[in-house]
Amino acid sequence: MNTPDLPISGSCLCGSVQVQVTAPPILTFACHCRDCQKLSVSAYSLTAMIPAEGFSVSGKLAMGGLRTAARQHHYCPHCMGFIFSRMEGVTSRINLRATILDDLTWFVPFIELMTEEKMPWASVPAEHSFARIPETAEQVEALMEAYQRR
Ligand SMILES: [Zn+2]
Ligand SMILES: [Zn+2]
Repeated sequence: MNTPDLPISGSCLCGSVQVQVTAPPILTFACHCRDCQKLSVSAYSLTAMIPAEGFSVSGKLAMGGLRTAARQHHYCPHCMGFIFSRMEGVTSRINLRATILDDLTWFVPFIELMTEEKMPWASVPAEHSFARIPETAEQVEALMEAYQRR
């Protein structure tokens, strides 16, 4: 339970972009920030952090959203669906928008972020909550380890 059967496939709403995940996720999270509320058109966004070597994508992609040099957001250019993000300088993992996956029966957000901006009624069964985001890289590492051990 809470571990997907691999590989997991997924696609954007129109099906032009297909993804495949062949490695277990590193971490799963919900983000309650106002940006994610607007981005997801919902109360919070859901992300599965995937090892880069266990992720493949086919189909045309466009960059968009609040893209900066540091944050590269990839979208389907047809349905404008958000597919994944890559952080500049981080080659080991990507942040996949979890809801594009075909099978989500395994997905539970392990941590939740930015609860200080959450909608008052929105509750997520995460084991770790952060008012904002983890402060240090060590804290993130510890969360990844805890996620693997769960
Ligand atoms: Zn699409
Ligand atoms: Zn957010």
